[in-house]
Amino acid sequence: MSDEQRKPGIDTVAIHAGREPEAGSRSIAPGITLGTNFEQATDGSYPGGFSYGRSGNPNRNRLEVTMASLEGGATAVAFSSGTAAAMAVYSLLKPGDEVLACRDAYHGILHTLDEIVTHWGVTVTQVDTTDADAVIEAIGPKTKMLWVESPTNPMLWLCDIAALSGIANEHGLIFAVDNTFATPVLQSPLRLGADFVVHSATKYLGGHSDLTGGIVVGARDDEQSEWVRNYQVGAGAVPSPFDCWLLQRSLATLPVRIRTQSANAARLAEYLLAHDRVSKVYYPGLASHPGHQLAAQQMSEFGAMLSLCTGEGRRDAMAVLARFKIVTRATSLGGVESLAEHRASTEGPRTRAPENLLRISVGMENVDDLIDDFKQALN
Ligand SMILES: *Cc1c(COP(=O)(O)O)cnc(C)c1O
Repeated sequence: MSDEQRKPGIDTVAIHAGREPEAGSRSIAPGITLGTNFEQATDGSYPGGFSYGRSGNPNRNRLEVTMASLEGGATAVAFSSGTAAAMAVYSLLKPGDEVLACRDAYHGILHTLDEIVTHWGVTVTQVDTTDADAVIEAIGPKTKMLWVESPTNPMLWLCDIAALSGIANEHGLIFAVDNTFATPVLQSPLRLGADFVVHSATKYLGGHSDLTGGIVVGARDDEQSEWVRNYQVGAGAVPSPFDCWLLQRSLATLPVRIRTQSANAARLAEYLLAHDRVSKVYYPGLASHPGHQLAAQQMSEFGAMLSLCTGEGRRDAMAVLARFKIVTRATSLGGVESLAEHRASTEGPRTRAPENLLRISVGMENVDDLIDDFKQALN
């Protein structure tokens, strides 16, 4: 490849896309524009390109430019949460339509589908999206959308994004991938044929457990992306200027964070696999993981989420949880600090997570300190 053809690497994109110095002051770091309304010229036009805060804001624009560049999409649309971002994609569905959803998708998203999306006459069918044949079999005349996560939560299933995109394409389905666990650094669903990528920015994109946000990135500048853009303004779940600023700031370090976290997770998974108090380790980087080959093809590294099973049931798993000194007991994921939770308790009565399962979000601490903490907690 000649120099002219070579595209900037994702580390460069994360630092430079949408980050031109401020007009006027030339500040390297963008300021935060809190204003909700913008002055009109005498002819009624808006010289700065902004009219009203819900319709558009400079910090939101910058963030959307960064995210579209990171995912290699045509447009990015920011929301006040990952759930609001998912809702924007679901709003493409009409009464009578069916969505096929990954059976191991984030439990909150499955609740949103079951309790809110069905309310306007959409059918939601959960499928084992690790099995392409099961997906083909589930497609009927009303099926309009395929919703997939990979890796999934909390079982770390791997779904073949390129294969599913081929199937979706053949049947005229909108294909959306929740890329929250992998991030654009480890996986590029749009390049594998997805129509939309959705993120809970609350997780790795934010990365510091201090903001709630969501993003939809569209592969093309088409009618459907335009719908999502209009939904952002019309449904109104827009992120605050401060959250946009904070999220864009965090994206600059996303590549180093996720790679460090991934490397820590890989070391920890090997340690846990060899531990006699751990009966199962779910991590796509382990050769024993059923999705390992696929993960090696479709991801550049294996991510920083893992689940383990220990003891007989809830009590044993909770006892391990109680003994952690560095790893923090909390839900959510993707922050610089390592977190552990008893997933079945978090998900509640409808959970499918085994009672002895702990879900771990591996952070950026020194990995030997993390391994020592697991050693003392398990023994
Ligand atoms: C957290 C999460 C969501 C929901 O995002 P919120 O920001 O909490 O609304 C969606 N998908 C995945 C994979 C998640 O982990």
